Amino acid sequence: MENQRLGRLVLVIFPLQGHTTPMLQLGTFLHSKGFAITVAHTRFNPPNPSKYPHFTFLLLSDKLTESYTPATLNFYDLESITRNCDLPLQEFLELQTQTADSQVVGIIFDSIMSFAATVADHFKIPRLVFMTSSAGFDRAFWAFPRLLAEGYLPFQDSMLHELVPQESPLRFKDLPVYKQNIEETLKLIDYGRNLKNFSAIILNTIDCLEQSSLFQLRQHYKVPVFPIGPLSKVAPALSTSFLEEETSCITWLNDQPAKSVLYVSKGSLAISDEKELTETFWGLANSDQPFLWVVRPGSVSGSEWTEVLPKDFKEIVRERGLIVKWAPQKEVLAHSAVGGFWTHCGWNSSMESLCEGVPMISSPQFFDQKVIARYITHVWKVGFELDGVLERGDVDKSIRRLMTGREGNEVRQRAIELKHMINVSTLEGGSSYNSLNDLTEFLLAKNV
Ligand code: UDP
Repeated sequence: MENQRLGRLVLVIFPLQGHTTPMLQLGTFLHSKGFAITVAHTRFNPPNPSKYPHFTFLLLSDKLTESYTPATLNFYDLESITRNCDLPLQEFLELQTQTADSQVVGIIFDSIMSFAATVADHFKIPRLVFMTSSAGFDRAFWAFPRLLAEGYLPFQDSMLHELVPQESPLRFKDLPVYKQNIEETLKLIDYGRNLKNFSAIILNTIDCLEQSSLFQLRQHYKVPVFPIGPLSKVAPALSTSFLEEETSCITWLNDQPAKSVLYVSKGSLAISDEKELTETFWGLANSDQPFLWVVRPGSVSGSEWTEVLPKDFKEIVRERGLIVKWAPQKEVLAHSAVGGFWTHCGWNSSMESLCEGVPMISSPQFFDQKVIARYITHVWKVGFELDGVLERGDVDKSIRRLMTGREGNEVRQRAIELKHMINVSTLEGGSSYNSLNDLTEFLLAKNV
């Protein structure tokens, strides 16, 4: 059902799972407050309108060819999206001002879709950027120009384990280098400079997790900042997966002892090779710990799914392990049988884990995941790092350390404390609760 009491908001999403999910969650919250919501999306990875009857949809023809997959999408595609999507958005707003059935009172755009800010500016509509990663990532990203000016870039391999000046606890190896290439990273930062053209910033984060990065963000951008996370708790029932969720794994979890299962997932983008898959399998098998493992079809280069595993892998792990193609992750992490999460440290996954008090083994692959991984292990201290070339012995050792060791107990306690703090932030008077209200007020005040 359309809700038009407070006018219309246009949400411009970027077509990857980790970007689409929080935007749809935010849209659901704002709809509940009385706004009509139009979701502007590309042809690539569109949301399924039948799952969101409370929204209307606007197709932005991105001109990406059918062959694109999230893994091949690169910086130049972003430019192409920008070149091709602004016109349909402009036409929509043009039409909207003429018909005026529900006035557009704001545009909320994914930080990668910054063309939307220019379009909104033209129509004098408030434009709010939604940053879908952590505040710590944004802060680390903006450190590059300074590090370049101070002569630290490009950094040598010998510096990888050194702390980055003024960015502790990040080491040089934790910096979000885009496509492993400093030049590409600086280009992306240049692209992001357009981002200055916005009226406010929304982040799926929480004050108690990222106070100091949020402070720096406010200093840097000098616009209102709304840390409104965790969005997974704001719209808990919303299903946003592009892939079909194998809900039968919940029945399997119901039969496992409390806090015994390690959940393993590398999100929607990460790719591994056959050797990594095999080493992961044997590490899991040797650990003697129950596990629920998501292997996304197409995520193992050279294989369709798990063909490379031993033919009798089901007998090897007996009832102790389950492999699925895609899981209802939020439900899994909230399940009492789950005691740990081996993650690639995507921001949504990390937040979902923090919300449920589940400690983590962090194996970041690229970009913001490296920053988030470091926060997990060295700021929030709710997990251990498992980095470098995967070997079954290290995997086994890490799992035992997290699931059965004394140190594992310590990070589990810490994770439970953080869960409580996060919970409090969502209650009346809590920081995220207040931020959500402030955001609504901001939109109603129509600040351009
Ligand atoms: N996810 C899921 N089922 C899975 C694996 C992942 O529902 O089997 C969801 C997860 O809950 C999260 C999103 O996919 O909301 C992944 O986003 P994230 O930012 O963690 O990582 P990305 O996929 O962008 O690397």
